[in-house]
Amino acid sequence: MRTRFAPSPTGSLHIGGLRTALFAWLIAKQTKGTFVLRIEDTDQAREVVGATQVIIRTLELSGIPPDEGVMFDTTGEIVEKGEYGPYHQSKRLPLYRKYVDELLENGHAYHCFCTSERLDAMRKKQQELRLAPMYDRQCINLPKDETAKRIAAGEKHVIRMKIPREETVTYDDVIYGPLSFKGHTIDDQVLLKSDGFPTYHLAHVVDDHFMKTDMVIRGEEWLSSLPKHLLLFRAFGWDTPKYAHVPLLLNKDRTKLSKRQGDVAAEHYLTKGYLPEALLNFLVLLGWNPGTEQEIFTLTELISIFSLERVHKSGAVFDLEKLDWLQGQWMRRIPVEEFAARIRPLVTEKYTAAGTDPDFLKRAALIQERITFFPEAPEMLGYFYESPSPTMALIASPKQKIEPAQVPTIIDFLKTQLGIVPDDNWNRDSIVAAIEQALPASGFKKGQVLWPLRVMLTGREYSPGAYEVAELLGKSETMKRLAVALS
Ligand code: GLU
Repeated sequence: MRTRFAPSPTGSLHIGGLRTALFAWLIAKQTKGTFVLRIEDTDQAREVVGATQVIIRTLELSGIPPDEGVMFDTTGEIVEKGEYGPYHQSKRLPLYRKYVDELLENGHAYHCFCTSERLDAMRKKQQELRLAPMYDRQCINLPKDETAKRIAAGEKHVIRMKIPREETVTYDDVIYGPLSFKGHTIDDQVLLKSDGFPTYHLAHVVDDHFMKTDMVIRGEEWLSSLPKHLLLFRAFGWDTPKYAHVPLLLNKDRTKLSKRQGDVAAEHYLTKGYLPEALLNFLVLLGWNPGTEQEIFTLTELISIFSLERVHKSGAVFDLEKLDWLQGQWMRRIPVEEFAARIRPLVTEKYTAAGTDPDFLKRAALIQERITFFPEAPEMLGYFYESPSPTMALIASPKQKIEPAQVPTIIDFLKTQLGIVPDDNWNRDSIVAAIEQALPASGFKKGQVLWPLRVMLTGREYSPGAYEVAELLGKSETMKRLAVALS
């Protein structure tokens, strides 16, 4: 199937937009089809410089780049690729003009000269009467010669669609199922604005026809406009693509996800350090339900099992805790060599010694189980490269039932027991054995010696376990830290 993502370059790519793109990408890949990127830049007032770059970059960084349409070349310049271009709507104006003229000729559209003042007054009146806002068709029957004269005189005008008000338009949406729209509730939509640019309604119908789109996957906010689009396809005599409307993203309080309640720019999540795999895994679960208990999905798995039939209609709650959980899961899945290679430059920037540390891989492995974002690595590994400064307050933890007065005895116990582990057999098993076999006679509980050991070696309240840290610090460094703590 040919699917497309058709954003407007009006700012950053919304996180909901990235989800729509992902759904469209998955359907294309699943059917060995083509995923097209089209830029809908017909609203010049809202266009933001650089927005197209952000859109392409976000798709690329996420791992779902377009196969056709607007993309970067190898030098990072924006180019167009494909035989159905141009793929920027602003470069297709003559085409829209041609097809709007055809509608005029066939009686499916008409010129409207109403001023914005008149339209405002009309809307105000409708509001007072509690009527749905709708164009009152003042210009629908203007005589041809009058229309021609007013156009020739340069009078500002738009072109509107003539909706067959007596009809009921029905459609079976891939996600929403059977729908029906009464003609008298559908507005005579503006198709061509006074600046000669088409509105979305006309432009996407023309483009999706000529770009051979098989399925339009787009946000639910377009659902109410669907009958206009279906009528346009019919007026042109073209086959209608399939439509799938994707449910809204909601805040936890079930209001529409908005900038005010959190970050909605997809790219920010990537620059904050979320893995693309985690972000896409999170997004696919917003609306789609695999029908099993499985929650972690690779893109390859998704390509084979994703289906729009399993996307539900109700809004999907955007739950950042779930995203963080998925991020952690994906961090654990990176092969350890790759994980170490990714964090090494970050750690080395802060601790030069990490650059030449022969044990770096093992040390990195120790934190891979607990890290959420790569930039946390220097802090999490810092005690391997600089001496910690554990405080008595932290060592004598009331939670572990340790009194400050017991601490010197505990350190003595640890020094003695660790001291008997031979230098050439310093590993986790020997360390565990040396400490645990002597525990019963010492009168201390396990936590009363392991907590202080860990704190004296790391200086931190949270870190990997005492045995693992001691093993990777080595015997002499471990003994040194105990001695320092004692003094
Ligand atoms: N430009 C429209 C938007 O950004 C596209 C909707 C569509 O995919 O057709 O909402």
